[in-house]
Order: sequence, then structure tokens, then C-alpha cells
Amino acid sequence: MSELAERYGATVAAIAERAKQASRDADAITLIVVSKNHGPELVRELHSLGQRDFGENRDQEAKPKAEQTQDLPGINWHFVGQLQSNKVRSALSYSRIIHSIDRTSLLSSIQKELVLQNSLASGFIQLNLTNDPGRGGVQPKDLLDFAEKALEVSNLEILGVMGVAALDRDPRIDFETIAAASQSLRGLIPSAKSISAGMSHDFKEAIDFGATHLRIGTVITGNRNL
Ligand SMILES: *Cc1c(COP(=O)(O)O)cnc(C)c1O
Repeated sequence: MSELAERYGATVAAIAERAKQASRDADAITLIVVSKNHGPELVRELHSLGQRDFGENRDQEAKPKAEQTQDLPGINWHFVGQLQSNKVRSALSYSRIIHSIDRTSLLSSIQKELVLQNSLASGFIQLNLTNDPGRGGVQPKDLLDFAEKALEVSNLEILGVMGVAALDRDPRIDFETIAAASQSLRGLIPSAKSISAGMSHDFKEAIDFGATHLRIGTVITGNRNL
């Protein structure tokens, strides 16, 4: 077995184990392998092991990789990084799930493109868990106002909230904030039950706090080499 296959298998097992400990159904948790800084061969090998959901954070890198792997059946590309409005058309050409919806200008671009394509997409509202507005994301206190605007984008289904826990403190602090935000979002949009949270170093804690979509890179892919 390759080292990649070993790391992948170990991570899938760790997710199942933690879900069990947390009395959660592992089938209700989607593992998204973040393949940034790795080539299409890595995506192919993981696909051959059964992986279908992949994440990328930069359009320039994601688009060619998605094109080079478009023959793989059932592959889903998740766009997980900050998205510039002028990249919306490109991102929506290979990804139908945007995890980083965080500005009204981005909502307008998505709306325009989906109407033009006459197609549907889904996404998460990204929360900013820091006081740094440069980090992207909606402040938790502004979530419901922003969600009302997102609801007006008719071809866009809001799946839930997304967040990146701060590195310099216990991730459970941020996962608790995300879980509370999820709860309040569901008051407005009952179907928006999903939570995109948890990365290589904190996915176990994220599972404890209800994450439904884990975005995991290095612990599976190894060091980034592109
Ligand atoms: C890179 C990235 C991840 C994965 O990070 P790892 O620490 O490598 O698991 C998850 N989410 C986002 C938004 C990323 O950019």
C-alpha cells in the first residue's frame, strides 16, 4: 500500500472512530480532501480508493486540475478558499459547492452567473471567527442579515455555515461559536443544517461539535510540494 493510501485509510478510520465516540453517524460526515499544492495524480489515486469529494482554495490551481481529472466518475469539487467576484464564472465551471460565501458583492456575482447558466449551485456562509476583517467571512452577529440576502439568490441553496478555527487557541472555542451560529441560521433556513469545519489538526474536535463537512489536507496528502 502506498503511503498516501495508508494516511487516507488512517484518517477515514479516525473519523469513524471519533464519530462513534460522539454518538454520531459517520455516514452523515463528508470528508473533503483538500488537494491544493498537489497534482492530479494524487486526486486520481484517492479516487481509486473511493474518495469523491475534493477541495481547492485557488481558482488558478483548481481549474486545470479539475479539467485533468474530469474523466473520474462522481467527482465533486468544493471551492473552499476566498473567492474573488471575477473568478466566480471560472469556479462555477467545475465546482457546484462554494464554502466561502461571505459578501453581498459575491452573492450578486454568483446570482448573475447562475441565471446566465440557468443552473443551480449550493454553498456555505463563511464565518469570520477573528476580529480581522481581512480574513474573510461574516461576523457571527451579522449572520442572519447576510443569510436573508443569500436567500434572495434563487438558484443558490444555502447548506449551512463554514468556519476556520483560529490556530492560536483551543479550537473548541471557535467550534462552539460555529455550532451556535448554525443553530441560529436554522431558525431562518431550517434546511441549512450543514457545518463545514475541521482541518488536519482539529477535525476530531470539529466532529464533537457537529461538523458535517471536514476539509482535510496535509494529514492525508502529506507535505505540499507544488
Ligand atoms: C488548506 C485548507 C484546508 C486544509 O488544511 P490542512 O491543515 O492541510 O488540513 C481546509 N480549509 C481551507 C479553507 C484551506 O484553505
